[in-house]
Formats: sequence, structure tokens, C-alpha cells
Amino acid sequence: MHQLTLAEIARGLADKKFSSEELTKTLLARIAQLDPQLNSFITLTEDLALEQARAADARRANGETGALLGAPIAHKDLFCTLGVRTSCASKMLDNFKAPYDATVVAKLAAAGAVSLGKTNMDEFAMGSANESSYYGAVKNPWNLEHVPGGSSGGSAAAVAARLLPAATGTDTGGSIRQPAALTNLTGLKPTYGRVSRWGMIAYASSLDQAGPLARTAEDCAILLQGMAGFDPQDSTSIDEPVPDFSANLNGSLQGLRIGVPAEFFSEGLDPRIAELVHNSVKELEKLGAVIKPISLPNMQHAIPAYYVIAPAEASSNLSRFDGVRFGHRCENPKDLTDLYKRSRAEGFGPEVQRRILVGAYALSAGYYDAYYLQAQKIRRLIKNDFMTAFNEVDIILGPTTPNPAWKIGAKNSDPVSAYLEDVYTITANLAGLPGLSMPAGFVDGLPVGVQLLAPYFQEGRLLNVAHQYQLHTDWHTRSPAGF
Ligand code: GLN
Repeated sequence: MHQLTLAEIARGLADKKFSSEELTKTLLARIAQLDPQLNSFITLTEDLALEQARAADARRANGETGALLGAPIAHKDLFCTLGVRTSCASKMLDNFKAPYDATVVAKLAAAGAVSLGKTNMDEFAMGSANESSYYGAVKNPWNLEHVPGGSSGGSAAAVAARLLPAATGTDTGGSIRQPAALTNLTGLKPTYGRVSRWGMIAYASSLDQAGPLARTAEDCAILLQGMAGFDPQDSTSIDEPVPDFSANLNGSLQGLRIGVPAEFFSEGLDPRIAELVHNSVKELEKLGAVIKPISLPNMQHAIPAYYVIAPAEASSNLSRFDGVRFGHRCENPKDLTDLYKRSRAEGFGPEVQRRILVGAYALSAGYYDAYYLQAQKIRRLIKNDFMTAFNEVDIILGPTTPNPAWKIGAKNSDPVSAYLEDVYTITANLAGLPGLSMPAGFVDGLPVGVQLLAPYFQEGRLLNVAHQYQLHTDWHTRSPAGF
């Protein structure tokens, strides 16, 4: 049963082949047996899951239908969950039980999804390897000595290891697409504003966006459908109609114009990944797509701009964790300053402290114009590059990451080398565009992803292209040995 996709589960439940309660029990037992190897969950909510599964079975017995009704999922541990620990993988929030559900959590629960628990992640979503978690590193099921990517590494590892069919993630600079690529999953970052950020603990508010991680594009369509939509409680949520994401999966790719940016094949890209990306291009050409070389001339500035803007916003967002209102408080503070200082020094891990320091510096008087303002100008140039490109092409295609998953610990002494791994994903966040990563082959037994980018609100186009590709390839069906 653990091999089933969301689409297959929906059919199995509708045909009464099994109940949601049976499926939920099977997966919880599988998690108990296998997750000690992976560390992909921070909190399991068995009782809540069984309660939700029984309620879903009752709704089906009453004639209700729905692709998510009774489907097991899990949430990255930065979505607030009522009465359940919401830690953001930080000591700071180790004791924090959210007083309400995030909109994404509430919407999926209303659709009948069964939440098995909260998945591990990089602390406050800062990282590309899931090594900065207070609860320990997550292992990649394809090779337990390697990272699963981050920051949504727990969601990715759990889905890749068939502990559950799909999970939520968030993507500020690649945290859905990059772990998807490194674990052989399909992951989608929607257009900024498509999914509500209400109840999602903020990292960099102008970049953060929630989305699905699953094994297939078809399943990403199902999960995204349950997540997307206008939310008056999030002022950056956009009041756009949400299309039926599953309706156009079978649209023809005849004449689809795919732009391949020269800058995506620069120095630093593993040539074996470049070859797999070119193979995927040939596959899409066979399906009728037309390839056009394009240029995104300002891409080289994306990493420096991102690593000013994201820490700047983080330093502001994380100022709320002061030992007074939420989370960790130091013992016996001498005075208020001591309370702030020690609570934050004890509660935040080293990567989070580094980002707060960088961000506060970039925003400080005298440096604001030189760093933050310049970075915002670069952001606009990058957006303009995409707008120019999308005048000529329907989709942009390239690698998701320059390298396959690295060994746990390999980049610990050099944070910048980890930042460089985000080179292909962060441009979509800076521009607010939707992006998807899909499995495209293996290097040394480790999965490789191809990234597709589309104009604003064209998530349906990304899912259509990925689904057609998956009908003609079988990379996404491979599962890691031992899982
Ligand atoms: N790796 C990037 C960072 O560390 C992106 C993380 C994310 O998307 N949450 O900031």
C-alpha cells in the first residue's frame, strides 16, 4: 500500500479497496519501522491522524468524494498546527504549541487530508541540506550518508522513502525544488501569492511560498489544489481564480516553446547533470516542444542579492523571538537585555545567528543603501530578464541544482559553498515566478532534477509539461533500495 500515489489512493478509497484508517495505520507502522534511519519527522500525530482518517471514511460512507478525502500527508514543521508542537526545527520553538492552524493546514484538513505529523527541516528554513535542524540531520534515502537537500528535507526524505505519498514544503530560495531534485521527487513552488502564508512561520516574507512535494506531477496537482487560493488573512495572497490543476495534465506539448538559458549551463554545473538535462530536452522535443536558446543576463547577481534580501527580512522576522512572548527563555535573567541576549543566543543555532547578523548589518544605517537597496534593484533586473524571456517562450528549462546530494557534513566548514548550490532556484523566488523540479536521471546512484519555470500563475502549464514527461519516462517511478 505504501507504493501508492495520491491519485491511486483516491481511486482505491473510492472503490473501497481499503479504508483511510487501514492506510493510515499501515503508514504509521512503516514510519515507526523505517524513520529511525532517516529522521524525517520531528513530531508524529498518530491519534489525530487516526481521528482524521475515521472522519474521512465516514464522509466517504456518506457519499462525499474528493481527491484528498482520506489521503495521508504531513506538514513541514513551520506550518502552525493547533495544539501540536510547531518547532521550525529550532530549540527556540521546541516548546511551542501553535494556538491555531495555518491556512494551508486548515484547508487540507477541510479537504479531508490526514496529517501524520510534522516533518524535519533546516532551522527556520535556512539551509540547503537539512543539517541545521535542532533535532539532527535528515538522511537521504538514496544514500544514508548523503543530505536530502533542504530546507524541506524531512518532507522530501519521507515521501521518497515511501513513508507517505506527499507532503507540504516551503520554498524561499529553492527549499521545495532542491530537496525534490536530490531525492527523486516532483516539487512545485507556486507563484508568490498563490498559496496563503498565514500561519507559516516567516523566514523571508517577500520570498516564502508553500507548495507540494510528491512523486508525480499528477499528485502535485492534487495537493496544490487543496493548498491554493485567496486568503484575506494574508495581505500578499492574490485574489486570482484557482484553476483545476488536474484538468489540463494531458494537454498536448505540440509547439510548446521551451527556453534554455545559456547561464544555466555555466561553470560549476556537473557535466553529468548537464547531459541529463539535455536528454530531458530531447524527450520534450519528441513530444512536440520547440527549443529556443535564451539568456538571463543578470542571473550571476542572483546569489549575492538573495543572500542580502533573505537575511535582511529574516533578521526583522526573527526579532519577535525575544524570550518574552514565544519559545525559549533563558534561566534567571539579570535584566531585560540579559533576557534578550541569552534567550536568543541559546535558542538559535549557528546558521540562524549568522543570517540575523548579516541581515541586521545590511539593514543598518549607512549600509542600507549600499546593500539592501542595491539588492532590490538587482531583483528588479532579474524579474525584467524573465519578462523579456517569456515574450518568446512558454517555459524555461534547466538543471535544478549544480550537483547531486553531497555527503552529510561536507560543506559545514564553508557556508558559502552551500549557498552556491541555490544558484538555479533562487531566481524564481526573487521574481515571484512558479517553478517545478522533476526527476530526470541519476549520477552515481543519486537522483538529478530538471527545473521548469513558467510565467506568473501558470502552475498548470508546469504540471502539464511534467506530467507529459512522466508519461514517457520512468525516472520518477524508481524507489530507493531498502525503502
Ligand atoms: N537554501 C536557501 C537558504 O538557505 C533556501 C532556503 C529556502 O528556500 N527556505 O536560504
